Amino acid sequence: MRKQISLNNLDIDKKEQVFLSFLSPEAIYLSSQENLPLNKRIFKNEEISPNTYSSISGLITSVYNDKIVITNDFKEEELSNDKKKFILDKISQKEIITNLKKNNIKTLNDKLLANLLEEQKEVLIIKCFDEEVGLVNAPYILSKYTEKLLSLIDKIYSLFCFKKVVLLFKAKDNNIIKKCQENIGTYPNIRTRLINNYYPLTNEFINSLVFLNDTNNDSLILSIYDILEIYYSLKNSLYAKPKVITISGNVLDKTYLIETKIGVKITEILDNIREIKDMINIDCHYFLNSYFKIKRLDNLEDLIVTNDFKGIFFNKKVNEEPCINCGKCYNVCPVYINPKNINDKCIKCGLCSYYCPSNISLLEKKGSDEHV
Ligand code: SF4
Ligand code: SF4
Repeated sequence: MRKQISLNNLDIDKKEQVFLSFLSPEAIYLSSQENLPLNKRIFKNEEISPNTYSSISGLITSVYNDKIVITNDFKEEELSNDKKKFILDKISQKEIITNLKKNNIKTLNDKLLANLLEEQKEVLIIKCFDEEVGLVNAPYILSKYTEKLLSLIDKIYSLFCFKKVVLLFKAKDNNIIKKCQENIGTYPNIRTRLINNYYPLTNEFINSLVFLNDTNNDSLILSIYDILEIYYSLKNSLYAKPKVITISGNVLDKTYLIETKIGVKITEILDNIREIKDMINIDCHYFLNSYFKIKRLDNLEDLIVTNDFKGIFFNKKVNEEPCINCGKCYNVCPVYINPKNINDKCIKCGLCSYYCPSNISLLEKKGSDEHV
């Protein structure tokens, strides 16, 4: 079993959270395998290539490699589509499964959601947090769309004959949990459970927390993102799924949660939020999707909000000092390897670099000739 580290009292989790929207970009950048001509008119929600939809209406103003640029005409003209106004009470188990199969909906770890639901487990556990350090998108999505997500969870509970459904929160997300609490109270079948900020969290460990010492556990563990996918697939409007990103880091005073659109350039978002732009300077390093030093970016210019984009962290540049052989990196490594000599067992959690008193970016040394 992997080691689970409790990351309580991280500076990043204590920052005030600010919620903003950025939904009218000048242009969006999308991947497209099709040969689309310049100046073609594109409608909002038009499918550009399989599972890629335009979130704005406008003209194709640039085509390069496998990307296109759509310049916004700010008219929000939509293609007529068969968006369904579904009535949750009338939805059947079969309809949910058929929809998920038709849309090939997968979980974050690439499993087919329909197959998982068909396994008919006894307990449904829903993770209402992001796995990666510093991100707060998942609890925010739940707090903003509480009513629709909770009613769907309750429906899944009864249609798939679960005996129990547990919403799992991290205690650090207390502010957001308070916002959902009142609504959760109206669903007697839905229980909540708070856990410490364990990282990296495995399903095995989640089961041990939820079931305590009962080893006869039989659970399906999903995330709030999966519930969102089910909801929008039932509505036949996967293109309209909300996209939220986190912008934070130790050079910013606050954590910004921004509801935006797929295809928007990060530089355009930053240009519109002056308080962030003013704090970023050459003494920053940018990290993608985690506060920890996992994936460092060289520049922001080509960075675009994609399905996989979850957030960006602006952290102070720090000088690396020589290794003092303190052993902290080894002690925190969840897979029990020596981070000074990383091998393929590494799960790229970034804990070793975070705890290193000499600020050594151990992950970045992997595969290079540089030794610690
Ligand atoms: S070597 Fe570092 S990044 Fe890799 S698993 Fe161990 S602690 Fe995590
Ligand atoms: S790399 Fe850092 S954490 Fe690991 S032994 Fe050296 S100083 Fe300590």
